[in-house]
Amino acid sequence: MFLRITHKIKSSLAVRLTVWYAGIFIVFSIVAFTFLYFLIAATLQTQIDDDLKDDIHEFSVLLRTGGLAQVKHEMLLETQNKEAQQDFYRLWTLDGELLATSDLSTWSGLAEPVKILVQLRHSDEPILETLEFEQHEFSARSITALIDPNTVLQVGESLADNETFLAVLLNGFLITLATIILLGGPIGWFMAKRALLGIQEITEAACLITNGAIEQRVAVRSHGHELDQLAQAFNTMLDRIQTLIVSMREMTDNLAHDLRSPLGHIRAAAEITLTDSKSCPEMETLATAITKECDRLLEMINTTLDIAEAESGTGQSKLDEIDLVAVINDAQELFQPIAEDKNITVKSNLPKQCFIVGDRRRLQRVVANLLDNALKYTSPGGQVDLKLNDKYNQVQLSIEDNGMGISKDETIRIFERFYRCDKSRTHEGNGLGLSLAQAFVRAHGGNINIDSTLGEGSIFTVTLFRNGILNTQSV
Ligand code: ADP
Repeated sequence: MFLRITHKIKSSLAVRLTVWYAGIFIVFSIVAFTFLYFLIAATLQTQIDDDLKDDIHEFSVLLRTGGLAQVKHEMLLETQNKEAQQDFYRLWTLDGELLATSDLSTWSGLAEPVKILVQLRHSDEPILETLEFEQHEFSARSITALIDPNTVLQVGESLADNETFLAVLLNGFLITLATIILLGGPIGWFMAKRALLGIQEITEAACLITNGAIEQRVAVRSHGHELDQLAQAFNTMLDRIQTLIVSMREMTDNLAHDLRSPLGHIRAAAEITLTDSKSCPEMETLATAITKECDRLLEMINTTLDIAEAESGTGQSKLDEIDLVAVINDAQELFQPIAEDKNITVKSNLPKQCFIVGDRRRLQRVVANLLDNALKYTSPGGQVDLKLNDKYNQVQLSIEDNGMGISKDETIRIFERFYRCDKSRTHEGNGLGLSLAQAFVRAHGGNINIDSTLGEGSIFTVTLFRNGILNTQSV
């Protein structure tokens, strides 16, 4: 059970689309956020580096124009206000002798850049580095450079503002990402469901059509996108199929109608031969065979025409209040000899009475056809159960047998005209009994359902409505 549900979820297109959508959405969001974060961090650092380089340039000019005293004075001035405590300045000779510093009270743990001083003896390129402090939460960016051939200036700037800003940004990104991950699934599911809505409707319509509702159509919306075009094409195809089916039915109905009179004449001629005292025994045998075959063909033709009439609603139906229990009992009595011949037990569980409004003759044929089939397709020693469930306005007659049963593939076809299951071809029949039963029941506004398992038996359930309004225009 669990495996089946898991398989269903995995094979669901909506679920797969959701997972893909949410997955791609989340991955792209992470990539985009990461890229944006590093881009902002790099831009901020470049900006600080440019400021530091400007400072070096300004101080080298100052040293040239105002001398060392001016430089020292300016260093103090730069860090005098509180905000400027964010920066520090240190001045050395190239040999490493400290000449001056700004107020370093907020910069505890600031080490001497011994290596850089050595480096600067060989190259006059300014050296930029990020300084970490064990004592501080935030780091600093510093530049160390020659401001004249023998004087080295180090300018440092706290990265506290930048790091606070980046931390806020990262928090914002993480909250947004968490929201995206949480919403990604439901949004993906909603979008996948919306996108597949049209397909689902088409599938449902196709299932209904498979079960016989050929008049079913898919709703076409006015968006004009691919799914609407598919629905439109699907409906056009169904119109065409329905036209073909209707014209085929009309053709067989007309053919049946046209065949009835010549067949009647042939049968009459054969009957005259039988009653003619001068006919020889061979002719009598032939005439008997002809009469029998004509009867069979006429029965088929009449049944076909009865179906056509019931389906088109043109037949004369005589509505009465009839006792369905009496109809079932009569049929059981009628078929009792056949059941006894085949050693089949027919059991019934019926209420005393069950009155419905309907056409007695038609309902008699429905019950007779279903009971006849149950007995025909059940092996000797089997059992047939007749039950009537009478609840509120709905009446359900079920005829259950433990006979040969019908395969799943064939159950959807047995109500088609002339359709006979492979296994039952050895039995007498013409494949019209169920079509007729269904046409008559539908004309009463009801339906017949089948539940069958090959080799185990079948249950045919006829559902009718107590105030059965004859739906003469139906089907
Ligand atoms: P038929 O004259 O062949 O019985 P129907 O229209 O009554 O024609 O039934 C159509 C086919 O459905 C039958 O040929 C048979 O294969 C199958 N069928 C109908 N009723 C039963 C049943 N009770 N058990 C098994 N198969 C059945």
